[in-house]
Parts: sequence; C-alpha cells; structure tokens
Amino acid sequence: MSNKFDLLVIGGGSGGLAHAQRAAEYGINAAVVECGPLGGTCVNVGCVPKKVMWYASHYSHLLHHAADYGYDLSVAGQDWSALKAHRDAYVLRLNDIYNTNLDKRGVTYIEGVARFIDANTVAVGDKEFQARHIVVATGGQPLTPNIPGAELGITSDGFFELEEQPRRVLIAGSGYIAVELAGIFSGLGSETQIVVRKDGVLRDFDTMLARELMDAMQKGGIALDTGVIPASVRRTDDGLVLTAEDGREFGPVDVLLWAIGRAPNTAMLDLDKAGIETDNRGFVPTDDLQATNVENIHALGDVTGRAALTPVAIAAGRRLADRLYGGMEGRHLEYRLIPTVVFSHPTIGTVGMTEDQAREEYGDDVKVYTSGFTPMFYALGKDKQRSVMKLITAGDDERVIGCHVFGDGADEMMQGFAVAMRMGATKKDFDDTVAIHPTNAEEVVTMR
Ligand SMILES: Cc1cc2nc3c(=O)[nH]c(=O)nc-3n(C[C@H](O)[C@H](O)[C@H](O)COP(=O)(O)OP(=O)(O)OC[C@H]3O[C@@H](n4cnc5c(N)ncnc54)[C@H](O)[C@@H]3O)c2cc1C
Repeated sequence: MSNKFDLLVIGGGSGGLAHAQRAAEYGINAAVVECGPLGGTCVNVGCVPKKVMWYASHYSHLLHHAADYGYDLSVAGQDWSALKAHRDAYVLRLNDIYNTNLDKRGVTYIEGVARFIDANTVAVGDKEFQARHIVVATGGQPLTPNIPGAELGITSDGFFELEEQPRRVLIAGSGYIAVELAGIFSGLGSETQIVVRKDGVLRDFDTMLARELMDAMQKGGIALDTGVIPASVRRTDDGLVLTAEDGREFGPVDVLLWAIGRAPNTAMLDLDKAGIETDNRGFVPTDDLQATNVENIHALGDVTGRAALTPVAIAAGRRLADRLYGGMEGRHLEYRLIPTVVFSHPTIGTVGMTEDQAREEYGDDVKVYTSGFTPMFYALGKDKQRSVMKLITAGDDERVIGCHVFGDGADEMMQGFAVAMRMGATKKDFDDTVAIHPTNAEEVVTMR
C-alpha cells in the first residue's frame, strides 16, 4: 500500500465515505481511515438499526387496530433476540456493501485509529500516511453524565447490543433519540419511563410538536417526569434506581439509558499537531465551505457540531468533493431548510423555522395556519390518535418558512414539502395545489 494520497479522509461514516467516493469518481487518489465498522454511526448504531426497531414497534400499533378492520388475530409474542439477529445480519450486509463500494472506486481502506502528526501527515498505528488534502469526518459518540453510578446505565450504542427485551426501562434525556427509543421500548412492550431536565421533550422543535408528542406518549403508557436532574445511580436487588438532585427516585428498572447528547470524536486525533482549532466542546468549527482554520484540512458531518444528520454529512461531503475536484466553483451545502423526522409514535416531520423562531425574526409579518384532525385510519375503532399540522408564513406574499406535522405518515410527507419550500413556495402555491384524497397529507394543502 502506498503511503501518499491526494486525499485522506479520517472516518468511514456517512460523510467521510460520501466525500472519498465522490472524490475518487473525479480521479482523485483517495484513502479512508476507519477504526470501527464501515458506515459509521448511521449504519451501525444509528438511523438504520433504529428504523428497523421502529418498524418492529410500529407493528404493535397496527396489531392493536387490526380488530377494527375485521382481523381476528392472536399474537403469541415478539422475539426481541430474533429481531436483533435479523437486524445485525442486515447491518453486516451493509458493512460489506460499503467495503465493495470503496473497492469499486479504488479508494484505499485503512483500518485503525488515525491521529495527526502534522497538517499533511496522519499516523495509523506505526504507519504514517501523507496527503495533500485531509478531511476530518470522525462523527460523535453518546455522552454519559458525570455522576456516581452513571456507568450502570447504557447509551444508544448499548441499546443496539441488548440481546433481550428489558421489562422496565428508564430513559434520561429529552431529544429525538430519547423519545424515539422510548417509543420503541414501549411499543415492544417494555414498561417505559422518561425523565427530562427541563419542562418537556424536543425543546428545539416547534412547541406544538413537543406538546402533542408528550400527550401521545403519556396516553400510550410512557411515564414522563420533568425537572429531573440526575444525581446518582445505584444498583438494588430489584434493579437500577436513579436519584435526582431534588431527592426524587426513579426505578427500580432493568435498563437505564442515557440519551443526553453527543460529543465529537476529536480527543484521539491530536488535532493540535496539525494546528486545527476546536470550540470549547471539542467540535471542529467550519465555514460555509467546510474549511477549518488550516488551509488543506476540511471537516464535515457531526464532528463540526452542525445539524447532526446523515443526509447533511453526505451532502456536505459530496459538495465539497464537487467543489475541490469537480470544477464546481462555490458549491457548498446550505444549512437551511433541512427537513428532518422524529421516528416517534406517531412520527413527526418538520422543515424550516419553529413559530418562536419565525416571530423572533419576522415579528408581526408572521402568519400561522394550523390543523388538527383524526386520520381516517382510526375511524372504525375506539382508540384514536390525532394528527396536527402547522404552516408558518412570512411577508405579504406569505412565503412558507416552516412546516410541522405530527401524525401518521409525517415521516414520508415532509420530503416533497421541503422541495417546495426551498423553491420559495407561498401559501397560495400550497392552496393552488390539488389535494390527494383521502390522505393525511392533503391537510397540508387545505389549511385555512
Ligand atoms: C441512535 C441514533 C439515531 C440516529 N437516527 C438518525 C436518523 O434517523 N436520521 C438521520 O439523518 N440521522 C440520524 N442519526 C445521526 C447520524 O447517525 C449522524 O448524523 C451521521 O452518522 C453522521 O455522519 P458522520 O460521517 O459525521 O459521522 P459518523 O457516521 O459517526 O462516522 C464517523 C466515523 O469516524 C470513525 N472515527 C472516529 N474517530 C476516528 C479516528 N481517530 N480514526 C479513524 N476513524 C475514526 C468512527 O468510528 C465512525 O465510523 C442518528 C444517530 C444516532 C446516535
């Protein structure tokens, strides 16, 4: 193996692989260093196995309503271990596909932990590699609190290692990973409790979404406690008990899961040897063009601390390669109107500003449209799950600057609306679009 490359990418996750492969398509001699399985967080301990688990728990929802549709079903149980085995096999297949893709494009795959020697040299074990361009795409890892007994809990990484379904689960955290995992555990039958530091979940999202989700979680049997600042964890004969700073106790439970945020993977990199600056949390700041403070070194994906989502890392990586090697001057990712989904039960789809952000930026120029309804799916039965939607517009032409949906199908709904909003769609454009009936999505174009 040569030890000189045009491009060396550190991190074989979503962003790093996308960048290296696109660069190789432009004829660049590229290498990727990866210390874990190829595919990074998304494929191994993120989006992919999470969505498999979401599908599994969504089944319980459908089964619950099967009788409304005339089915006479009896379900003997759900085999978590079998599900995990199928999921793991799928992830292994994906790891192989990533390997083959690198091979096909002639990208060199170097296994091991990378650390900088200088701005053009990276060491992996006892070997040194030199490159004209280096890209840091090392992603992040879950945080645990610095309190006594914290190590008794697991994180989202540990969630994917669980061989058996825990009977009782406590999740500490309020972000999308916390609510998604809570929904999965609960859907599959674990007694599930969630504790949050402030007054609710999903605090970065539109308040309507958070409110509706908390209501749905509680109706679905997930216990939610607010204002809980974890102080310690102890193991008792009956399971783990979390004590809060105010003395409240939660548990005993079989699994305590921390979902309290993520830290960048920068500690092992010796970034200072290359002169790369980080912020006070260790993230690598980048400008619009993914440039770090060192001329030949770029960074992308979760390690930059911006919009930690797979398609964001991929888009940033591909655009950077297009600009550096594909002759597309100025091409870069715009970090605005990024659509995203929370795989809760039901799902949330969202793009653009929250109502609070819009009012702060546009003041009285903001107009808000909302809709709440019960989808037809629930018409035949007694248990009903409401959907709610919100469109936020700004200016005289009522340009749509925020679109938020909570309810069945929200996950598949948002992609198309994101395209429209990027193109500058106004409320009139939405109104003039003929609805698709009968769907939940039609409500987005019939709001008044
Ligand atoms: C539970 C969970 C669910 C998620 N669900 C979604 C979702 O539904 N949709 C979505 O869009 N996003 C989701 N995400 C976020 C998504 O996984 C990340 O945004 C995405 O993986 C970031 O890609 P990346 O390339 O920046 O980093 P990563 O994919 O994390 O890749 C970084 C790679 O660098 C490697 N590495 C680190 N340090 C070194 C080193 N020194 N030397 C060599 N290699 C190194 C790591 O092993 C890793 O493989 C989820 C994340 C989690 C944790």
